[in-house]
Amino acid sequence: MLTRHPIVQIHPSRFCNYTCLHCYSSSSPDVRNGLPVNTILSTTARLADEGYRLASLSGGEPVLYAEFEALAEGLTAQGYQTSVISNGTHPHRLLRTMQAGHVQHASISIDGPQHLHDTIRQKEGAFKRALTALSTLLDDGQSTGAVVSVTQQSLPHLPQVVDDLIAHGIQQIQLHPIAAVGRASQSVDIIGAELPQEALMRLILIAEVFSKLYPNVQFHCDAVSGAMLNTQPPAQNGRLISPIVIRDDGWLVPYSYDVSNTFALGHVSDPVVNCRLNDQTAAAVDCALDACKRLAACTFYREFANVAKQA
Ligand code: SF4
Repeated sequence: MLTRHPIVQIHPSRFCNYTCLHCYSSSSPDVRNGLPVNTILSTTARLADEGYRLASLSGGEPVLYAEFEALAEGLTAQGYQTSVISNGTHPHRLLRTMQAGHVQHASISIDGPQHLHDTIRQKEGAFKRALTALSTLLDDGQSTGAVVSVTQQSLPHLPQVVDDLIAHGIQQIQLHPIAAVGRASQSVDIIGAELPQEALMRLILIAEVFSKLYPNVQFHCDAVSGAMLNTQPPAQNGRLISPIVIRDDGWLVPYSYDVSNTFALGHVSDPVVNCRLNDQTAAAVDCALDACKRLAACTFYREFANVAKQA
């Protein structure tokens, strides 16, 4: 999990047309400021020199970032393969950028059956719009997946949701347990608390069963069993951090949007970005891995953010 190809996760802005209850970045239509595209690109250029080749755009709704096309085009010019996570409300702008060859993969968020999706998105009709976006991209032959945020309420519906997505022609499905961060932490009474151990384990098993049932569909589960991390070697000082997160406030942090600034790797205004593990970050990685190994099931990035909070 810590040795994937180096990824830069970019949050250009927290502007969004939705105010979803589970939004870890507390994005909304009221957040108007963001990072200028040239500032982002000068940072990604430095990261490309360090070996980063994959960029993932999220937000806020990245397709609504004013300079979305310029950002995607600039990343392509720097040699990145770019993916976008979108709520699917502006599929044609996304499609045009994909057709231009500046975005290679799109994931549309689907958070359960229609009633749960529309509730969590606080928008009637959101589910239908997300499905329309999937069809728009798939019909054009674009590489398209779905990111499913899993709550205690949506977990029992997952087999049906996954079946429906596959019937729709989806090629990649990411299962992401919600984290009680940002607006999600204030919405526990409606969307429930984070998935407990037993539910995370069920999620891991569901993903494995679906991988066997549908070998042509790529499943990725953000939860892992503690035992799966037993072979993970200790963190090594100097190793490239992946993912590295560029937040809309300009700070670069390791692994997860909500990691404390105590572990900040730099700021987009800095001439040099330190994107390798130092003693402090490596110790926190090892601490998070130890915590994960003691658990039946977990998500590493959540544990890392928890360790970082206590440091
Ligand atoms: S979860 Fe996504 S779509 Fe919902 S408010 Fe946050 S950024 Fe917008």
